[in-house]
Amino acid sequence: MNDPLISVVAPIYNEGDGVDRFTARIAEVLGGAGLRYELLLVDDGSTDDSWSRIAHQSRLDSRVRGLRLSRNFGKEAALLAGLEQATGDAVVVIDADLQHPPSAIPALVRRWQDGAHVVEAVKRNRAGQSLGNRLSSRLFNSAFTGLTRVDLVDATDFRLLGRPALDALLRMPEHSSFFRGTSSWIGFTRATVEVDIDHRAGGASRWTLRGLFRLAVNGLTSFTSAPLHLVTLAGIGFALFSLVLGVQTLVRWISGGSVAGFTTVILLLLVTGTFVLLGLGVIGEYLARIHEEVRGRPRYLIQERSDTTAPGVPEQW
Ligand code: UDP
Ligand code: MG
Repeated sequence: MNDPLISVVAPIYNEGDGVDRFTARIAEVLGGAGLRYELLLVDDGSTDDSWSRIAHQSRLDSRVRGLRLSRNFGKEAALLAGLEQATGDAVVVIDADLQHPPSAIPALVRRWQDGAHVVEAVKRNRAGQSLGNRLSSRLFNSAFTGLTRVDLVDATDFRLLGRPALDALLRMPEHSSFFRGTSSWIGFTRATVEVDIDHRAGGASRWTLRGLFRLAVNGLTSFTSAPLHLVTLAGIGFALFSLVLGVQTLVRWISGGSVAGFTTVILLLLVTGTFVLLGLGVIGEYLARIHEEVRGRPRYLIQERSDTTAPGVPEQW
């Protein structure tokens, strides 16, 4: 492959201010490195002027292609939409807020040309992330790695997939995908490149606490049934504990001791109640996933594409 085509896929949600800057930066870096590329900007149902910006950019530069989802389907769905539309020999997934430095793309491409099928950008630092944010993501990544054996430590969504790896990824039928996990799960020869995560170029993180929680739960439930086994284990633990306690109480009663302890009874009730509800919740999460998969709704809907937008539409700005 002498002159490979690189598809750069970036999800966009209310990044109107940043679209021009991001597109320019990509052109600067990839153009500068003499790489042939297409830039796929997926508007994940933005409510600001992101789409008109994207459409504008695609009119200025034929390498830019825009895709507009019919509503906000979430970053994972937007990524998938972009990946399914990518035509390149390799695809690079990157955030549009410039937190993932586009300057690292040529390095990713080089590792791919040296023979790696998947090149991951791993964090050297985490600028612009609060301590809580950093701790929770470290905690989640370690828990995920421990439970699933899919290594996520210091991983980001910023990565390059060669065509065979991308095609393998796109064969996965599940609805609530988790790109960071699935793109590790597929295997293939891997390489990593260290990058410095930058501060966000504008605005605040587009993730809500609820969104992040859903991502974490989706990621875990789609990769492992370990939480279900934990519930079983907790049940066994409780059974053993009750047995020991029961025998001890019986022995005391037989030897004439008094059996008291209202507080103990209440506490035990609360503890068991907690475990029962948690267990039900865990089962419920898996049930909800099954329900979602069985319904089989499309994972995203495309409203329009930049190449089908009628030319000559008056600009809004
Ligand atoms: N994003 C998206 N849909 C969403 C939320 C975010 O497409 O529902 C995009 C967003 O525009 C950005 C990327 O996903 O390009 C990462 O989002 P953000 O920077 O808010 O997340 P963080 O950097 O805090 O993880
Ligand atoms: Mg960001």
